[in-house]
Amino acid sequence: MKILVTGGAGFIGSHLCERLVEEGHEVWCLDNLCTGSLENLKGLKEHPRFRFILADVAEPLTLEVDAVAHLASPASPVDYQRLPVETMMANSVGTYQALEVARKNGARFLLASTSEVYGDPLKVPQDEEYTGNVNPVGPRACYDESKRFAEALTSTYRRLYGTETVILRIFNTYGPRMRREDGRVVPNFIQQALAGEPITVYGDGSQTRSFCYVDDLVEGICLALRSERAVGEVINLGHDRRLTVLELAHRIREMLGSASRITFMPLPRDDPRRRKPDLTRARELLGWEPSTALEEGLRRTVEWFQK
Ligand code: UDP
Repeated sequence: MKILVTGGAGFIGSHLCERLVEEGHEVWCLDNLCTGSLENLKGLKEHPRFRFILADVAEPLTLEVDAVAHLASPASPVDYQRLPVETMMANSVGTYQALEVARKNGARFLLASTSEVYGDPLKVPQDEEYTGNVNPVGPRACYDESKRFAEALTSTYRRLYGTETVILRIFNTYGPRMRREDGRVVPNFIQQALAGEPITVYGDGSQTRSFCYVDDLVEGICLALRSERAVGEVINLGHDRRLTVLELAHRIREMLGSASRITFMPLPRDDPRRRKPDLTRARELLGWEPSTALEEGLRRTVEWFQK
């Protein structure tokens, strides 16, 4: 297949491009490098089945493809609050442009959506029927609401034009290639623990997350790109082992034998309190399972940061 990956120079996107090329596909990677980097693609740039397009996904694009994986958007709270308008454009106009490429080609369209569409969930675990608890005017709205718009547009294309769509709601993901300045909890804690600096826990650290290793996530995306049963579906992808942010801080500190102390800082506004995916649908429709244990995934991520 010939596959367009928007946001292909990013953290998840670059791992996806690699996997798709390995599987024998021809990959066209589009990125404006606002949070992605060419460094992430250095293993691919000479590959005959790989092409890079430096462009903004919100600009119109003409390309013949069999599938579109639309990942382009800043994804860390630090990034999307630094680039709020760019984020909203990538998820609104960018989703429109990517859907148009899919519609004109009769290609499959995969939307990388997010657990953020559930906002600060009142239901735990979150299944795909849950419609969420989102603040439309808060600091996270530029991301949450534009991803919700992206989902609405994607389902409209499915209804109106019969486009083969799949919406994946991606929960917290970690692994090599997260940027040093990404600001998310795993790269922050690892770098702080390695440097012996204080580990910055926001709030009292009792908020919960579940962390999925990037290779597992990419496996799920690839399954969704080819599965017939995924068409027209909304599917959570993530890990369902839930832990508190404070537990994560302790675990990383112990793993690294770090002398860092833990310091408590104010909890950002609208920070979700309890997040955990219900993965029943991913298991049933895709036969997918996040198989990498947290300890193993963290070990590989630490190795990468040390390099
Ligand atoms: N967090 C933290 N210290 C940090 C960075 C994040 O305690 O240095 C917390 C953050 O408040 C949130 C959780 O870790 O409760 C996960 O944050 P992240 O930015 O990784 O992603 P989110 O799940 O909020 O999108």
